[in-house]
Amino acid sequence: MTIRTRFAPSPTGNVHIGNIRAAIYNWLFSRHMGGAFLLRIEDTDRARSTPEAVQTVLDALAWLGLDHDGEPLYQRTQRQRHLEVAEELLAKGAAYKEDKGGTGKGECIVFKMPGRDIAFQDAVKGEMAKKAEDVKDFVLVRSDGSPVFHLGNVVDDITMGITHVIRGDDHVENTFKHLAMYEAIGVPPPVFAHLPMIVNAQGKPYSKRDGAAYVGEFQKQGFLPEALFNSLALLGWSPGEDREVMTRDEMVASFSLERVRSAPSQLDMTKLLWMNGEHLKRRGHEEIAAGCRAAMERNGQWREDIDPAYFQAVVACMGERVNLFGDLGQQAGFFFDEAFPYDEKSVRKRLLKEGALDILHEELAVFEGLEPFTAAATEAALRTVAEQTGRGMGALVHPVRVAVSGTAVGPGLFEMLAVMGKERVLRRIRRTLEIYGGG
Ligand code: GLU
Repeated sequence: MTIRTRFAPSPTGNVHIGNIRAAIYNWLFSRHMGGAFLLRIEDTDRARSTPEAVQTVLDALAWLGLDHDGEPLYQRTQRQRHLEVAEELLAKGAAYKEDKGGTGKGECIVFKMPGRDIAFQDAVKGEMAKKAEDVKDFVLVRSDGSPVFHLGNVVDDITMGITHVIRGDDHVENTFKHLAMYEAIGVPPPVFAHLPMIVNAQGKPYSKRDGAAYVGEFQKQGFLPEALFNSLALLGWSPGEDREVMTRDEMVASFSLERVRSAPSQLDMTKLLWMNGEHLKRRGHEEIAAGCRAAMERNGQWREDIDPAYFQAVVACMGERVNLFGDLGQQAGFFFDEAFPYDEKSVRKRLLKEGALDILHEELAVFEGLEPFTAAATEAALRTVAEQTGRGMGALVHPVRVAVSGTAVGPGLFEMLAVMGKERVLRRIRRTLEIYGGG
């Protein structure tokens, strides 16, 4: 059997990460099995399914590299087929007409549940069962003649020859109805796999109140598509052996529904940032530099007089600290700004405390005579000062860090000094001494 899966979003203008994760699993499963991954746009809600909303879905799929086979099926175009099936069910006695509430507005078509318990084997959740009395008859076609979700969803899956329906577990209740429909229509049902919910730290469904919840927001924040893909794939699935950072090809190779967990998965922003950093490192220096520059341009932090070689060196020096392209401009702006601001707390703690400015004077004197001005040389110079004066290295590194960067946090001090170069370092220490009254 050739596997055929689909992603069937209802366009709303935003693509929630829970929905796109379903798309990722359908895609991974199809690609792993050498099957087809289809796209169906469930656009019957005319008010919400605007062309822009549809485009948002297509953009999210394209950005994440979730290529689909063939043309998308737009559910709106299938209305005739939906209504035909409703008529067939009426003819078979599996549905009946009813004037709901007796309002005289016309009759709707109601699906008649078979009056038997319903059970199925969920590929993720295992055995699922429902008592006959717990699933009521339900409307298939409204009195205005429009098909409801259940009818369109099932009929389109049949039309598209879908073999596996992988979707969020908010649809489990629907599946009992859908199985009864398959039986009444006389078509074997697909395999169903219901994915666990994505939850926040409190175990509640992850929503936009918890932070970025839509694909577009992650894109705007500078996440790499391969990192978001990787992170979302791991929200509910794991390849085993503690493997985490993976390419799409590696995930395709090891994906299986058997290894999808049924317990809810927590979205952890810290982990997501870490994952992004890992994928960023795989991109290589040049590309990281270009991405950081683009982010700085977008945020109005880029300056035309930044020397390209200096910029590259700063990017390399920040290394591990850059998880998002935007981090460089956020955390390392001082590298490029001679009028960098001083963080008040760092100044109070590191510069204005007893003896710190005297130390800075001494360091200035030592650095003035230092050639070459490498990381190893500045470190050795400060060690000598430490030995000669009986002070710890801690007392020496903090004042100079704040003096050249305005803050107590940053990359390794000696690498930073080497990247900045002697002239810039001396100029900055002098400026700091002038401002803070040491000389
Ligand atoms: N349009 C439905 C949704 O987005 C489709 C569910 C399904 O995959 O069957 O929830």
